[in-house]
Amino acid sequence: MKTSAEQLSENGVVRYTTPAKQLKCLSCGTDRIKPGRRYCSRQCRQQINWVLSLSKGLLRTFNARYAAFSFTRNHVILDVLPVWSKVISRFICKRTFGNKPAEDLKNLILQAGREWYQMVDNNTSKSFASLSLLEKNHKESINPKNIKPDRKASLRLTKHEKESLKILELDRKDLSSDEHVVKIKASYKRMAKLHHPDMGGDTEKFKQLNEAHKQMLLWTENPQYASRRALQDCWSYDGVTSRWSPPL
Ligand SMILES: [Zn+2]
Repeated sequence: MKTSAEQLSENGVVRYTTPAKQLKCLSCGTDRIKPGRRYCSRQCRQQINWVLSLSKGLLRTFNARYAAFSFTRNHVILDVLPVWSKVISRFICKRTFGNKPAEDLKNLILQAGREWYQMVDNNTSKSFASLSLLEKNHKESINPKNIKPDRKASLRLTKHEKESLKILELDRKDLSSDEHVVKIKASYKRMAKLHHPDMGGDTEKFKQLNEAHKQMLLWTENPQYASRRALQDCWSYDGVTSRWSPPL
């Protein structure tokens, strides 16, 4: 059987689909994951969200319309399709033994950032620095369609987030609304009054409420949506919303 790495080196293209769906942590790829969960731990999830947020600066510099992040055992890969281009640029970096993909992606982003800054420091214009870096990494063999996700289909919530939503007495519709942050805060405020220990409320309930509030505010910073199967093995970025969506 071929490994992912072999698939990569053979034709230079990462496969975005796999025949059999295995339960794996979306952040680090480990299969040591509890049923029903999408991440092996909360830290692992926070780590990838943090690094993907970090990548947004670079993606905006490239004026990315779409981007995709994937990893194999040996590489991390960031594919970028700028608004004005028909060719994908592939940024690829060897994995460091013992590192999680998120750490390797962070290094890849910082490396690209350093290259960009070096050019700008040498009096290259910012737009030309971006163009040079993108052209240097052009990968004509990849079909740009590969990294274009379908429009968002539905919200994706972890079990923990679903529970938090329930505690705040909100539902999915509240999250789909443009006012979702206001709704979360209003609901929290209303319920905090009810459950505050100083007002005779239950301490444990109040703690749960605070946790739920924190959890849902965190969700709003990086809301996640289901995208189509073609991107099931990589994270996809949409430049219009500046958001990353997890693989299916
Ligand atoms: Zn993990």
